Amino acid sequence: MRKLRRKNLSAESLHVLDKMRELVEGHPSPPAQAKRLWDDKTNSNPRKKAFAEIRKVLGEMASGLDRCMYCEDSRGSDIDHYRPKSVYPSDTFRWDNYLLLCSTCNSKYKKDEFPVGESGEPLLLNPTTDEPAHHLELYPSNGKFRGKTARGRVTIDLLNLNGDRAEEMAETGCQKKGLPRGRSNALRILQALVLLHDAELQHGQLLEAERTRETILEATFSSLLLSLVCLVSKPQAAVLLKSGVPEALHRLIAEVPPEHREWIYAHRDAVKAQSGELGAS
Ligand SMILES: [Zn+2]
Repeated sequence: MRKLRRKNLSAESLHVLDKMRELVEGHPSPPAQAKRLWDDKTNSNPRKKAFAEIRKVLGEMASGLDRCMYCEDSRGSDIDHYRPKSVYPSDTFRWDNYLLLCSTCNSKYKKDEFPVGESGEPLLLNPTTDEPAHHLELYPSNGKFRGKTARGRVTIDLLNLNGDRAEEMAETGCQKKGLPRGRSNALRILQALVLLHDAELQHGQLLEAERTRETILEATFSSLLLSLVCLVSKPQAAVLLKSGVPEALHRLIAEVPPEHREWIYAHRDAVKAQSGELGAS
């Protein structure tokens, strides 16, 4: 999971959301009205157009190619309400309350859950407002997350981010080992691609190198690039990373488009600031 920058929505779509929110807030039973309007949200051309744009822009904000904003494994299929509409009906039609989730994260795990702390603060991380690096750390050896904070731990548990998702595997007959195994595999694939990119640069194959950069940034679990960046400065880097990866990674990041360099460095700086390294330098 990584911090995602929320993009702007057109004025027309924001207007549609404002109007729908007014219909919820002015109703004697806001939760029922929110549900009714949500279930029927494409019943007019302006609404249909607005929700098509919302889905498209959420996909552009997500990691890789349209990945779920929490697990990053599956394709994002559902417009999710960060604050559930059953509990916060007036947030049903707010752009900044929308996330893109896969149906497993949305319908099987998150559902209408929204744990809050003692002063009412949300415990579930919001990838568009929170910096996940402050709360989650990846164990590269097994692909599992460690919660560095209570919010990190709640997010891992609520979305089963370390689980093998045994139930869904039983349903599909799939015997694979789930998300941690997928992340562990992705770390190996990313390292291989980082080395390939470097070889292409060295051989002057610039178009091939550009295509490899796109492949890396569009890969499933592409945000694990951040874990590689953080591993480079750790004492165990030589054991955990393939030979040549730290230098090749440095050259790769110099070549990626600025908007990608921004999230990579923001994550690295968040991790450094938390461990006190930035303050000391
Ligand atoms: Zn998901």
